[in-house]
Amino acid sequence: MTTTSKSSDPIRSRGLDTIMIHGIGHGPAIAGAVVTPIFQSATFEIGAGADIVRYIRNSNTPNHDMLGAKLAALEHAEAGLVLASGMAAVSTTMLTVLAAGDHVLAQRGIYGGASKFFAAVCPSLGIEADFIDGTEPSSWGELLRPNTRAIYVEPMTNPLLVVADLHAVTDFSRHHGLVSIIDNTFATPVNFRAFEFGFDLSIHSCTKYINGHDDIVAGAVMGRAEWIDRIATRSRTLGGALDPHAAFLLDRGLKTLGVRVRQQNDSGLHVARFLAGHPAVRRVNYPGLESHPQHARAKGLFAGFGGTLSFDLQGGAEAADRFVAATELATNAPSLGGVETLVMRPSVISHASLTRQEREEIGITDGLIRLSVGLEAVEDIINDLDQAMRSGRA
Ligand SMILES: *Cc1c(COP(=O)(O)O)cnc(C)c1O
Repeated sequence: MTTTSKSSDPIRSRGLDTIMIHGIGHGPAIAGAVVTPIFQSATFEIGAGADIVRYIRNSNTPNHDMLGAKLAALEHAEAGLVLASGMAAVSTTMLTVLAAGDHVLAQRGIYGGASKFFAAVCPSLGIEADFIDGTEPSSWGELLRPNTRAIYVEPMTNPLLVVADLHAVTDFSRHHGLVSIIDNTFATPVNFRAFEFGFDLSIHSCTKYINGHDDIVAGAVMGRAEWIDRIATRSRTLGGALDPHAAFLLDRGLKTLGVRVRQQNDSGLHVARFLAGHPAVRRVNYPGLESHPQHARAKGLFAGFGGTLSFDLQGGAEAADRFVAATELATNAPSLGGVETLVMRPSVISHASLTRQEREEIGITDGLIRLSVGLEAVEDIINDLDQAMRSGRA
């Protein structure tokens, strides 16, 4: 289920890259295997080395235990729990933190599935939600109510990469006794350490950077052991457990998180600078660019700016359509954070259910392209974008 260990533990004070590979070194090697094997067993003999009932839905097989402990160590959190998807992590966490009669503040512009959870699922369960502008802390107080229980944010929004005032979020929640939750998917523990900034819970879609290979769906939540135990208990009822085979793949992907994210930080900045100087591009949204409205804040918060950015093409919908059809290296597909470069038009994929006016109000124009920069040679990525923009103009 969940594994706890003290931060004074010398193993936990190792570098993140070491923890990604060796975890916290719990348990003997199985038959000398260097890699933790897949425990593809739904149930486990009672009393066989543990006084708990081990069952996959209880998220307490050796694969779950090892990953929960490793992810917790990476975020310098007390405990961690892996779940079946990022949305399983969001819903299970929030349905543990919140109950009927509670009120929650959620940042505007967060992941679509999480937005729907707050806007549609919460009200149906008697939980009220209000959306806040993450960059305007002075506007949050007027939305507070006596029953406000939690505040939920992301380090940078998707696809516009708005950077919320994360210091203000944890100050505000401490001052008003709220539970502060961050979905740290975009930054990863490599670029942002949520617990050093005072967040109570950190959620990840491990589908993205943490696994990094576009081949599984998984999620995780980290925090104090007390919280993680409660979330794990609720997940036994809600049922969003990760399959052991996916857990094995997640551990394999996770081992290279550090080198991947550092490379993606680097390539992301290169690509953003190239796009910012391109005549077919109207605007680039990337917190690493000096022109980004929250660039100074982002520099203070993050070790790197990540590999996801968006840009607006001069030619609008038609140019954007031609562009995504003309890329050869980059695939036109949703999702992000993997080794493959992906492009996608938010106006027709992730935000297609909104009207054009609603989209434009939140800055999602028809010419907007979201780009997840992969690990291909950065010159090849840039050449591909360049040739696709030429075809887009043709
Ligand atoms: C993709 C994503 C999710 C949902 O994750 P799944 O693994 O697809 O369920 C949640 N939050 C963010 C920021 C994401 O990018």
